[in-house]
Amino acid sequence: MTKKEVIKKLVLKFPKRLIDQPIVYHLVKDYDLMINILKASVQPDAEGIMVLELSGKKENFDKGINFLKKLGVEIQPLSKDIKFDEKLCYNCGVCVPICPVGALVMDKKTYQVSFDKQKCIACELCIKVCPPRAIKLVI
Ligand code: SF4
Ligand code: SF4
Repeated sequence: MTKKEVIKKLVLKFPKRLIDQPIVYHLVKDYDLMINILKASVQPDAEGIMVLELSGKKENFDKGINFLKKLGVEIQPLSKDIKFDEKLCYNCGVCVPICPVGALVMDKKTYQVSFDKQKCIACELCIKVCPPRAIKLVI
């Protein structure tokens, strides 16, 4: 049994059926993991997204990740970066209501769409809807 500690920032995507479940509680209590929730968002009639820092003994960490996967939680490391290309964006606004954390905003006076990198959790939802592909994933 290894005593090695693991600490990782992860993006968790919860299907709608799991949104009310005490998943974080189980990670702490059953797997002895420490959790620092960095961002969380639940959209009505959609999936929930949580960005967290998860740490603990490697064995427990792996068990906790398996627990999440078995439940149907999608897990990705927070190592991706989103790039917004102002030159390609034609301010159609399609991406604005899609973003679960308000990182894409349309100015009510100028109708210009802007991107706040600090808020972005790299969920990639906006990438799929942008017609001119002005938003890209950088790995
Ligand atoms: S990837 Fe797009 S939709 Fe997701 S948080 Fe970032 S800007 Fe918003
Ligand atoms: S969907 Fe694409 S083109 Fe439309 S406002 Fe968003 S980034 Fe700009």
